[in-house]
Amino acid sequence: MNHIKDLCAFLDASPVNFWAVDTAKNLLENQGFRRLDMSAGWTLAPGDKRYVVQNGSAIFAFIVGDGNPSAGFNIISAHSDSPGFRIKPASEIPCEGGAVKLNTEVYGGPILYTWFDRPLSVAGRVALRSENPLRPRMELMRIERPLLTIPHLAIHFNRAVNEGNPLSKQKDMLPVIALDCPKPKGLIRSLISENLDVDPDDILDYDLSLYDTERAGTVGLEDEMICSGRIDDLSMVHAAITALIDNVDKDSGYTRVAAIFDNEETGSGTKQGAGSPILEHILRRITGCLGGTEQDFMRAVANSFMISADNAHGLHPNYVEKQDPTNHPVLGGGPCVKINANCKYMTDADSAAVFRSLCEMAGVPCQYFVNHSDVAGGSTLGNILTSQIPLRGVDMGAPLWAMHSVRETASTMDHIATIAAFSTFFSL
Ligand code: ZN
Repeated sequence: MNHIKDLCAFLDASPVNFWAVDTAKNLLENQGFRRLDMSAGWTLAPGDKRYVVQNGSAIFAFIVGDGNPSAGFNIISAHSDSPGFRIKPASEIPCEGGAVKLNTEVYGGPILYTWFDRPLSVAGRVALRSENPLRPRMELMRIERPLLTIPHLAIHFNRAVNEGNPLSKQKDMLPVIALDCPKPKGLIRSLISENLDVDPDDILDYDLSLYDTERAGTVGLEDEMICSGRIDDLSMVHAAITALIDNVDKDSGYTRVAAIFDNEETGSGTKQGAGSPILEHILRRITGCLGGTEQDFMRAVANSFMISADNAHGLHPNYVEKQDPTNHPVLGGGPCVKINANCKYMTDADSAAVFRSLCEMAGVPCQYFVNHSDVAGGSTLGNILTSQIPLRGVDMGAPLWAMHSVRETASTMDHIATIAAFSTFFSL
């Protein structure tokens, strides 16, 4: 049950992408991983445990292999971001009647109405003035106490609300922060100043988002389900980091890598996303530090394998017709290999066979997810990464319900099974 307690703690400590990376970083530091900067020169020796943070919202942790620069990389990738609401600049809107609401912009594809009537708060990072105009000081910020709510319209003003209710992101979804505020302009700035104990004039900008303050927890007769925000994809981030840490004392010929990207929910097209060459740069530098040539790097890539870990859709008891008729991944049935004939996923028979073998070795079940042929599925990290580095690999994920709800549901057993499969992979 410890892995589940740890997962809940991980989710609670990670309200947004920047905090997820910081939480992962702390777990890694506790196990002797040391930070490397992309702007510094690197020297690496076999067995070194290192990590790189990109933009504060992506993290790449690795244990250097036994010294052969062409041996290859065993990689698990996942993403740090989740759909939600970002606070816009100049966001305070004083309203008739005195209440103050905040102007926000939707990030990714949240299920909007799940965000209504909840104790929300604010987390992210703030850019502060420093000596160097090119390098503002970046500080994490999280307001712990519930601070906002997005109140739903009473049913008496919209009797048809239960018959389908289209929502405007600009009108319906703005959170209320105060009933009466003498100086609404600059409210966010003064909250930041108070929270970080800094001069308001030194606050240059911020990346702040809303989060649900309700904590992660289990439900079900046997506590067999976990309910939380951000299970997609922080459960896979947690599994990848846990598996890497499980294997810190095990030698391997492979360099083992946990690659946690940002911005999967908006298409991965940023310098910290899977569409950037950041992972390739890191792998190339590791090869170079082991004395490898360009040819060794190409050989290492050919000798590598990647598990692209992003949650899958489990069979929903109220909507079984949405799933493929012969492949029904269920919550509690183990991690799922994701397959798509049109190559939205990187999985093929070769890579699915590898994952299945890993599950067999770990003694855990393995399922398959294939889209119902009339339903367009989502995409994920795998294929975007392989356009940068031609890796063999598999797309997989533990199944969940209500993907992109403010509170998703997954199986505790599947999480334990996923960690076991990942740990087996990193033990090779
Ligand atoms: Zn995801």
